[in-house]
Amino acid sequence: MCGIVGYIGDKKAAPILIKGLEKLEYRGYDSAGIAVIENNEIVTLKDKGRVKNLLKIDGMESLNSGIGIAHTRWATHGKPSAINSHPHSDKDKCFAVVHNGIIENYKELKEKLKNEGYTFISETDTEVIPNLINYYYLKEKKEDSKALLRAIRNACMDLMGSFAIEVISKEKPNEMIVIRKDSPLIIGKGENENYIASDIPAILPYTRNIYFLDNYEFAYIYKDRVDFYNKNLEPIKKETKEIKWDSSDAEKDGFPHFMLKEIYEQPRAVRETIGTTLDNDKIEIEGLELEREYLKTINKIYIVACGTAMYAGLTARKTIEHLCNIPVEVEVASEFRYNNPLIDEKTLAIYISQSGETADTIAALKLAKSKGAKTIAVANVIGSSITREADYSVYTHAGPEIAVASTKAYTSQITMLTIMAMHFAEILGTSSKNEIEELKKCLLSMPEKIEETLKVAERIKEFAKKIYNEKDVFFLGRGIDYPVCLEGSLKLKEITYIHSEGYASGELKHGPIALIDNGITVVSVITDKDLVEKSLSNVQEVITRGAKILLITNQNIEKKGFEELIKIPETNKFLSPILAIIPLQLLSYNIAVEKKLDVDKPRNLAKSVTVE
Ligand code: GLU
Repeated sequence: MCGIVGYIGDKKAAPILIKGLEKLEYRGYDSAGIAVIENNEIVTLKDKGRVKNLLKIDGMESLNSGIGIAHTRWATHGKPSAINSHPHSDKDKCFAVVHNGIIENYKELKEKLKNEGYTFISETDTEVIPNLINYYYLKEKKEDSKALLRAIRNACMDLMGSFAIEVISKEKPNEMIVIRKDSPLIIGKGENENYIASDIPAILPYTRNIYFLDNYEFAYIYKDRVDFYNKNLEPIKKETKEIKWDSSDAEKDGFPHFMLKEIYEQPRAVRETIGTTLDNDKIEIEGLELEREYLKTINKIYIVACGTAMYAGLTARKTIEHLCNIPVEVEVASEFRYNNPLIDEKTLAIYISQSGETADTIAALKLAKSKGAKTIAVANVIGSSITREADYSVYTHAGPEIAVASTKAYTSQITMLTIMAMHFAEILGTSSKNEIEELKKCLLSMPEKIEETLKVAERIKEFAKKIYNEKDVFFLGRGIDYPVCLEGSLKLKEITYIHSEGYASGELKHGPIALIDNGITVVSVITDKDLVEKSLSNVQEVITRGAKILLITNQNIEKKGFEELIKIPETNKFLSPILAIIPLQLLSYNIAVEKKLDVDKPRNLAKSVTVE
């Protein structure tokens, strides 16, 4: 789940590597390190802690090398410590390696290597990699130009699990080899220089021309060229893809945190996700050409995702079932695979992942594919792994999301899934023209309505000041508001470390109401006019037991009896989650700020979870 960066060119590598790591810290941040080749020797500087600590390490300033690899770690094997930090070397200090992922058979490989006389100094799974390379390299004839590549390839064929790896070697001081399997890795092509990274923001300041590696593709990188090879080391051709993101998209632009910036970017993210899909008479979604004959055969839709993306899926279920008349099941990706899901060629399976690298979601997609279902990926990163596995890929256009807690990606996912639901309904003829037209109109006005909703920020900030010391918060919603409450509760847990529960309003009295005590905060979301009375009765039940209420609503409800009432704009019922989540995002954000927590990098979390 870590971030890796590499550079090869005429500039000094170290500052570029450190700047790149800083951009990737959302992927992991318990230790960091770099390795360069100076005077034909590998120099490795690394330590526990954040990337900025690297600058304090003696010798960092004086590194002049134009080739280097770097890593910011999210430990899986071995506690965060200087020794366990990457880069790791072999026993002869001939190779340096950074690795993102998990080597599942590392114990077995370590034993095998120990029997061959290899020694290990760290507790990581990663350390077997440079040593295996060393082991295979010793079997090669050094004058063979492919010796290093073959040694790395042979080592990789022994590895089970997931890996994105960069290797430098003092044997070839001007060359770098990288490979990936199930962990992300991209190469940015520059002028007489090349950049390598786990994710786009690290190399956006330098180039927008990106090579995406597929599983078991090797890149042999020189400063002025990149050669690609397949698993059998046959040369392959790859083209760059141009990324349209601006490099300022990956900067804070005057906001104190990425999360706040990304909350405020939602009008644009939603506008760009809608893009040109609604421009013509019929809805058109780039990358999604499904025939009516095929759609008519579908008798079930699965939506599979993790965390926030799964909650976007729960919202979409209601929209798709209503508009398309097809039953939808929503599953957590890590469970989906082990539930023996009932899938066949009449199932359409939709997979949502902001980064497109979520390991559980990718694995779940492969399973559905193997059982004959057609698969659609909904991702935010062009060329990401999931989009290369799926039959069809559609993109949210939220721009890079850096804060670990997802905001604009979530509202963009709901936007895209709603458009998909409308598109299917249009093809199948399962909704009236009027209903689709009304939804289109509401979608197009969403960016303005989000702007309007953002005006509640000051009042939410004041409310956050009142409750930031609380231990428990409950979120209650019915119908379309229920998934919003689940997402609001997740946001609070993630960045404020306050325990919270999202509940279906009517379910509270079946158990959790026992936890409602004097003074406890309950956030109630009420946006469906048909459910107002019932929802208000549930709110009354908790007020009676001493709860203080923050009510988020688009209905005309009197403030009487509530601690705070936040009015949001009205819209189509199926789109109200996009607006209702905004005060909840702001609430979590302001509580985390009030508690002086690291908003963008909450403890124990990483942005894209590339391990299962
Ligand atoms: N499994 C490796 C470790 O624990 C790499 C983890 C990562 O991807 O940061 O060191």
